[in-house]
Amino acid sequence: MNATAGTAGIARLATQTADFDQRLNALLDWEGVSDHAVQARVDDILSSVKARGDAAVIEATNRFDRLSATSMQELTLTPARLEQAFNGLPDEQREALAAAAERIRRYHEHQKPASWQYTEADGTVLGQQVAPLDRAGIYVPGGKAAYPSSVLMNAIPAHVAGVSEIVMVVPTPDGVLNELVLAAAHLAGVDHVFTLGGAQAVAALAYGTETVPRVDKIVGPGNIYVATAKRAVFGQVGIDMIAGPSEILVVADGGTDPDWLAMDLFSQAEHDEDAQAILVSWDEAVLDAVEASIERLLPTLERRDIIRASLSARGALIHCENEQEAVAIINRIAPEHLELSVADPQRWLPDVRHAGAIFMGRYTAEALGDYCAGPNHVLPTSGTARFSSPLGVYDFQKRSSLIQCSPEGAAALGEVASILARGESLTAHARSAEYRLKR
Ligand code: NAD
Repeated sequence: MNATAGTAGIARLATQTADFDQRLNALLDWEGVSDHAVQARVDDILSSVKARGDAAVIEATNRFDRLSATSMQELTLTPARLEQAFNGLPDEQREALAAAAERIRRYHEHQKPASWQYTEADGTVLGQQVAPLDRAGIYVPGGKAAYPSSVLMNAIPAHVAGVSEIVMVVPTPDGVLNELVLAAAHLAGVDHVFTLGGAQAVAALAYGTETVPRVDKIVGPGNIYVATAKRAVFGQVGIDMIAGPSEILVVADGGTDPDWLAMDLFSQAEHDEDAQAILVSWDEAVLDAVEASIERLLPTLERRDIIRASLSARGALIHCENEQEAVAIINRIAPEHLELSVADPQRWLPDVRHAGAIFMGRYTAEALGDYCAGPNHVLPTSGTARFSSPLGVYDFQKRSSLIQCSPEGAAALGEVASILARGESLTAHARSAEYRLKR
């Protein structure tokens, strides 16, 4: 029961078996960006773009995306071209994109933090002022598939944050443009679009070239070349996160149709072979029913080979003893996506400390959050929800501290500062504070 694998190859685990910890750790283990050959190639691309700007960007783009561009103009899309893409969409797609954009914008409007100030008893005013980044760079992946939803999820929070200029890069292998991606850029208020990808796109955004403006922060998911380049330029520019493969953890109490649960697991597994889909229940019959649904439904899916590979390598059906154990597993995995497919998900919320996004109740399919529910779909993966949050408006803003001393405040603080500064032998600090004591 605990170690068998059906034809979909999904593992059965039970918390009560001696090797549970070991097996769960093996499933969760994910090697991040650590390929030396990729690192060397990325370093090469970064240094050539830094040294030679546009020329190096064009060379790398021609090589890796199989183009024959001779100027950056050929790799630049004008606002008019984006608008044309939007207007040219079939009505159904244009309306769906607009509906998703509207929901995403409304959600992110709620995230806008306020600047604040307060006055101490001595009349000193203290506070925090929030300001947007001047320029944000958005990486939209495009190597193997096109992601219009990623355009909305990255650009809309930047726009809501008040970023003055949004620069988007998206690769177009073999020169193939995706009209939905361009239309989404128009809708989300992107200012510049360059058809660049991989490390050369990240380098162009981080260092700036004759054509591509240097940005303050680069956000957005991508493959190993993109992730490696983002990690390398961090410090020169900000980055959002290093994204690993997508994951879902579903907790089921037995009241949800097992076909729904199987399809929710598939919807993560179909992303790629490294994606992770795990189901947890304290009811063995739920695991049996979902396993049967997986076996029956898997052959009907277009991406069944990817799903099978993902489920057999990194998927699991876990039997736990009770709800408390399910909560412990949630917090241990800190999943990117958590589905609480239970009768009263609100009751669970206070105990869930680590999860990127929490989908509550039987009707909340994770797929709705991927496209249009409103919250961001760029989420911390590989357990990083222990210390980080979904992409949001706050990623495109920073805070400045405010201090305005009254004469009384300067006198009171000056005495404290002077003592501490002399304790550190920093006499200029001490005297600077003491000058204000005297007046
Ligand atoms: P990508 O845009 O990340 O990468 C394509 C680029 O990689 C190419 O333009 C090329 O420059 C570079 N490249 C490819 N092979 C190379 C080589 N041999 N040497 C140097 N550079 C090379 O597109 P992708 O490959 O389709 O990957 C997208 C990734 O983003 C996937 O892993 C996908 O799962 C992920 N993704 C995540 C989210 C999310 O929200 N977490 C959303 C969408 C996509």
